Amino acid sequence: MRKRQGPLFILLTLILTFIFWSVSEPLRNVAPVRQYSEMAASLMLVCFAWVNFISTRHPLLDSLFHGLDKSYLYHKVLSITSVLLIFVHRFTLDAGKGNHYGENRVNLGPGPHGLNGPPPGVENGAELFSGIANLSMLLFIVLILLALFAWKMNYEKWKNIHKLFFIPYMIGIIHYYGSSDYAVTGLSALGLWLNLVNLVGLTSAIYSIGFYERTAFQSRYVVTNIRTVAKNTLEITGKAFKKGIRYKEGQFTFIKFTEEGKKFPSHPFTISQSFRKNEIQFAIKALGDHTSALLESVQEGDTFAVTSPHGRFDYKAGSNRQVWLAGGIGITPFRSFYQSAIPPQYSIDLFYCYNNEAEGPYLDEIKTLAAGSGIRVHLHDLQTKGFLGAEDICEAVPKTETVDVYFCGPEPLRIKLERELKTCGLRIGYFHYESFQFK
Ligand SMILES: Cc1cc2nc3c(=O)[nH]c(=O)nc-3n(C[C@H](O)[C@H](O)[C@H](O)COP(=O)(O)OP(=O)(O)OC[C@H]3O[C@@H](n4cnc5c(N)ncnc54)[C@H](O)[C@@H]3O)c2cc1C
Repeated sequence: MRKRQGPLFILLTLILTFIFWSVSEPLRNVAPVRQYSEMAASLMLVCFAWVNFISTRHPLLDSLFHGLDKSYLYHKVLSITSVLLIFVHRFTLDAGKGNHYGENRVNLGPGPHGLNGPPPGVENGAELFSGIANLSMLLFIVLILLALFAWKMNYEKWKNIHKLFFIPYMIGIIHYYGSSDYAVTGLSALGLWLNLVNLVGLTSAIYSIGFYERTAFQSRYVVTNIRTVAKNTLEITGKAFKKGIRYKEGQFTFIKFTEEGKKFPSHPFTISQSFRKNEIQFAIKALGDHTSALLESVQEGDTFAVTSPHGRFDYKAGSNRQVWLAGGIGITPFRSFYQSAIPPQYSIDLFYCYNNEAEGPYLDEIKTLAAGSGIRVHLHDLQTKGFLGAEDICEAVPKTETVDVYFCGPEPLRIKLERELKTCGLRIGYFHYESFQFK
């Protein structure tokens, strides 16, 4: 249940919108198709408010979605849904056009504002608000095409394109207040509800675009140690200037270096060691432009800032019998797990797969761990053993016990293992995973 809170909450807000719409009467006579069209638009405003709220990275999202990384899955689904709803609204509105003010009016009987009269507030501005809606739609289409084109681009450019969605969103809201056939002010349930929704959506968008970068990075650290833990992977340790963040094993934070010549905009990284007061550590692999540039230039004495911690990837929330699956740099949360004092009742098998000996972060450390940690380590070198498969896991873990699986690694490996493990007969209580992807 805890893991479904977020989606249930989203569903609840959509259902509430539908209920408020059902009990509200339009302020003039409009054809049913137009009423449904406006219901679609109301749902779209709710979806956009959620999209914007998720972009704030508020700590509440970790609780609601069981980790900020998971909330981004809904961010994606809701963004697509919102855009589809725009199209539904636009084209169904056209279908009911004959019932709007204009020449093709149909007599639908008397309405509170006279037979097919223009909606309140639109009397002189109908053309203007209709033009505004078209502009908003056009901008959405241009930005969607740009975002699709930018999909393979550097994440920062992709993120900047996303910020531009604020413009058509804003125009869409103006269009709503200017041309809704329902009461947008006053005490109507739908009007009040959508005012709240728009307030959340707009303030969230303004905060995430204008203030997040300036206010969220509260804790500053100085780099005290750098070491190579695998090919193209550095471990960076920092000491807090004042008060360091309080984090749990398995959590991640956003980090940015801001010094001249070392501009490293905010990126998410798992804290790769168990909690130490006023100290933080990351293992960073060069996976793109920024990380490659950072690893070439970072030096002891550099300063960086981090946000409060995020994520709910926590082995202590699982059952006592666990299987940990780590792929490459996905070892980082498990490293912080095994450094913590694992309670003796836990029985854990750690499967660690990596491309080759040179590319496995913390491999030497994990080899020595096998001796006395209570964790059974299964190393899987892709070069010599091929891909890790469910059969490798099922061979080592008895099928008589129910296990909680924790996975962190490449998404294709997760999808493959999650599917295969179901068929190989392993009794899985829950499959937890950390997603290293926000796109
Ligand atoms: C929760 C989480 C934990 C992570 N932990 C680690 C870790 O411990 N060690 C490690 O080496 N890597 C980790 N990553 C991956 C790391 O964030 C990316 O490799 C890094 O951001 C790549 O940046 P780039 O500019 O070099 O590459 P790009 O080519 O620009 O980005 C590659 C991918 O990284 C992700 N990414 C880049 N920038 C951001 C950003 N600002 N916000 C969100 N996602 C972004 C996107 O999914 C993007 O597709 C983690 C990612 C997430 C989401």
